[in-house]
Amino acid sequence: MQTRVYNIAFADSIKQAYLHFRDCNLTCRGCILRKIPFDSMLDRNMHLYLAEPNGEASMPNRYLDFDGVIDALVGLGATSVLFEGQEASLDPTMPLIARTLHQKLSTSNILLTNGLNMPDLAHIDKVAFSLKAFDENLHLEYTGQSNRVILRNFKRIYDSGVPMLAETVVIPGYVDADEVANLARFIASVDPGMLYHLDAYSKVADNPWPRATVENVEKAALAAGKYLKNVHFLREEPREFSVRSVFPTEAELDFAEQPSVDLVRMPVLV
Ligand code: SF4
Repeated sequence: MQTRVYNIAFADSIKQAYLHFRDCNLTCRGCILRKIPFDSMLDRNMHLYLAEPNGEASMPNRYLDFDGVIDALVGLGATSVLFEGQEASLDPTMPLIARTLHQKLSTSNILLTNGLNMPDLAHIDKVAFSLKAFDENLHLEYTGQSNRVILRNFKRIYDSGVPMLAETVVIPGYVDADEVANLARFIASVDPGMLYHLDAYSKVADNPWPRATVENVEKAALAAGKYLKNVHFLREEPREFSVRSVFPTEAELDFAEQPSVDLVRMPVLV
């Protein structure tokens, strides 16, 4: 059975695997995959976050079959698995992968989703729900889709009882403090204790927005904090674990087409 898994990354020290599925039902202008198609947490990719984009990367088109995914994760002894970007819930094999991992490895399965598609949560232990914007027109402009169904699914997933957190990318001058405050107010209407994680926008494609600074994210966190008790963002700290690519292998990635970026580092940020 063919899956849409095009990348498996793994952090050996914490036994955490990151499954990346192809296909998405949104077309976010700031999607990091437009710059870094393989896991941006890979040690080899960490420097790309701050790199200036120079054109766009093309998405990989080699996939594992179902047995290949399961065998790889069993071989690694994964204890937690993130089902993530593009949009894992669109792959019909995703629920079966989650169920098989529960049965074989008793993994903790975490789904990252944009929420446009109501996912099968039978074997999902936690959901990280990515909210792009609260204003419907802004959402439409940024993602190509209305957020009406997404906001409804946010509540439906919460009501399903699966533990959940929300996250948003702060984009200076676009999805900034005011917009984040509106999202926080919406999240608080569902659960004022929910964890809300803010990420900093990394420059992607030919978008006009600058990368988000620590100050941009702090300001948004402060605005969200008026509604939510639990707002979180990462500061510039060295990561304590290493992440390698299992599929494709690191050796294969040495020969893969690299994203087109300008590697001049900027003296900033998160
Ligand atoms: S939902 Fe995620 S994967 Fe899909 S386009 Fe938006 S940022 Fe990219």
